[in-house]
Amino acid sequence: MKTADRIHPVYAEMERTVFDRMSALAREHGAINLGQGFPDGTPPPALLEAASRALFERSNQYPPGAGLIELREAICGYYGRRQGLPVTAEQVTVTSGATEALAAAIFAFVQPGDEVILFQPAYDAYAPLVRRAGGVPISIPLLPPEFRYPAEALEAAITPRTRALMFNDPLNPAGTVASHEELAAIARVCTAHDLIAISDEVWEDVRFDGVPHRSLMAFPGMADRTVKIGSAGKIFGLTGWKIGWMIAADALGTAISRAHQFLTYATAVPLQWAVAEGLSLPDAVLAGQRAQWAESREQLKAGLAQAGFVVLPNAATWFLNVDLSASGIGLADRTFSERAVVEAGVATVPVSALYQGAQAPGHLVRFCFTKPAEVLDEAVQRLARFRHALAG
Ligand code: PMP
Ligand code: GLN
Repeated sequence: MKTADRIHPVYAEMERTVFDRMSALAREHGAINLGQGFPDGTPPPALLEAASRALFERSNQYPPGAGLIELREAICGYYGRRQGLPVTAEQVTVTSGATEALAAAIFAFVQPGDEVILFQPAYDAYAPLVRRAGGVPISIPLLPPEFRYPAEALEAAITPRTRALMFNDPLNPAGTVASHEELAAIARVCTAHDLIAISDEVWEDVRFDGVPHRSLMAFPGMADRTVKIGSAGKIFGLTGWKIGWMIAADALGTAISRAHQFLTYATAVPLQWAVAEGLSLPDAVLAGQRAQWAESREQLKAGLAQAGFVVLPNAATWFLNVDLSASGIGLADRTFSERAVVEAGVATVPVSALYQGAQAPGHLVRFCFTKPAEVLDEAVQRLARFRHALAG
């Protein structure tokens, strides 16, 4: 057998992620990186101070596998305070980012041949992880500009082999938020067909619509069939810390914790101390950060609109999406992104890269707006010139 034949088929033909690729191209071409989602600028100083204090004054050796009890309790306090969710520390497992939590939840519940419903667009880890577990991703496309959940298509996709549903609200890359009715409808499908819901809520606190986040876990019948996933990366804009968590009750909670213990066992302990402190800070600290992101969002939205780009409505996340066709640009999204990073010096993400196994719209490009004002100004100027050159 050739060595290449020993590679698992899921990885054999796999490319680097679109985020990694666009960031590499941005570095190579010295471009402004509005592709991969991360904020530039100083993270909340209280967290940085807490992390450095933790390095010197707290522990640097293995924490308990499920995470520091102080962090797990802080997570419970945070969800109680902000979402009215009654979670207990025993239900929480701290992971190396939400990505590990997704893997652990999938490995805990998906068996060979199981069908897993995935709405598309989706974080690009979902489908490969399901396939690696032997599961079959069943894709349901969500369509721009509203990205609404099609109740009939969902019902039609359920078969006797359907075991789980993966759900992301607020939705990356769209930046949209599910309505109360949509959440209730998804919960009804899960309870009616006895499905586990892997609910990726990493963007729960990056909302600009003033509406408090409502977890899928809070809907009738969902408390004991939902794995709720969160990430300090998004809440505090500290993506490189890779501190995430997952929450599930009873046997589900134990199963995901067991899956985690043989993926990474535990996660960087000084950062766990710091996130525990961060989650216990007054809500005003988070509100201040959100206000800054809201300003950047308005700035990029206005700048792009002024430069002739049509921006889709959004209510959450760090992303705005541009409709290329409506903006009079006849390029496919991937071509636009590949050319813009080289010719305009601005990296973006083509949204079609985040549709797997579903018909993708080819005319949407995602821009990350959590950057300093002068960086956004410069990016808009470059994009305006690029648009001009394309038209001419
Ligand atoms: N899920 C979604 C929807 C995301 O957008 C991201 C990161 N952008 C993740 C999961 C991964 O989060 P983490 O960096 O904490 O692994
Ligand atoms: N999901 C992040 C984004 O949307 C990127 C995460 C990653 O690069 N793994 O930009």
